[in-house]
Amino acid sequence: MSTDSTPAQGPPTADGVGDRPTVGLDIGGTKTLAALLAPDGSVLAQTRIATGRGPDAVIGGAVRAVQEVAERAGIEVAALDGVGVGVPGLVNHEDGTVRHAVNLGLEDATLPLAVRLCAELGVGVVVDNDLNVAALGAAHLAPGHAVRPIDLAFLALGTGLAAGLVLDGVVRRGAGAAGEIGHVPVVPDGPVCPCGQRGCLELYASGSAVDRLWPARTDRPAPVELFEAAAAGDPAAQAARDTYADAVAAAIRMLVLSVDVRRVVLGGGVAQLGEPLLVAVRAALERQAMTSPFLDSLGLPDRVLLAPGDVPVAAVGAAVLARTTPLPATRAVAPTGCV
Ligand SMILES: [Zn+2]
Repeated sequence: MSTDSTPAQGPPTADGVGDRPTVGLDIGGTKTLAALLAPDGSVLAQTRIATGRGPDAVIGGAVRAVQEVAERAGIEVAALDGVGVGVPGLVNHEDGTVRHAVNLGLEDATLPLAVRLCAELGVGVVVDNDLNVAALGAAHLAPGHAVRPIDLAFLALGTGLAAGLVLDGVVRRGAGAAGEIGHVPVVPDGPVCPCGQRGCLELYASGSAVDRLWPARTDRPAPVELFEAAAAGDPAAQAARDTYADAVAAAIRMLVLSVDVRRVVLGGGVAQLGEPLLVAVRAALERQAMTSPFLDSLGLPDRVLLAPGDVPVAAVGAAVLARTTPLPATRAVAPTGCV
């Protein structure tokens, strides 16, 4: 590993961004993505490794991902300004703990993720909800982010349905439920949601909703089969696709009417469909606006975008979080300082 390219160390610059690189991790149920961000905000290196299950495997994988991405960039881990981590489950951003991340094998016990990672790596660590870092990453990658604060929602169409919010350039955490629009009931007499209410939006607009609308007949994802069948002219598939797109459009409408974000970035598993999803959702928004001059005036179709497919958006956002979060107690200190 070369140390020639290791940037000089120094205090944070006037805008609060350090002059050393940071690493971001996006720890998901099957893979951990890592991105190394240069002080100028460009992505210098990225990597992905399989995520293990259970506290020790999750920590071990995170350490390996940081070491690997730093090595790819030719930078020592000790030269980093910090590490940011996005993780599912119930995350306490203040103390860097996570619990109830069932996909990671972290059920009941609280995992002190920031403290343990800091102790292993010897650099400061900050932890946040996976959707918050995805929204930060999407904002960082948005054109013009360096010129004016970004207003944006990252709408994740996955097993569930939820959004991360960046408002005026700042992630909106609230008391912990910000962006949980999946559990807004939209059909009063609809089926019971796992949350206990009836007819929640998640039952219609999540990736799981596609599985119910159009159960996969092969081993490929249900959204892929649905959109292919619709494109091939199957009327039932076209109707199911439009029903789903209407529900996603309802989620977008809800976000814009709540906080008037200028961009809604579609992410999560269903968004891997790419352009066909965007076309279907924009068409749904246009249909809904046909009878409402008010909706039409909001220009919703133009606010919807796809998350970039070639960059690990949430890992980039986690790296942004690390470089914009003060880590006085943990930044670049010895393991004993990780408190
Ligand atoms: Zn619900």
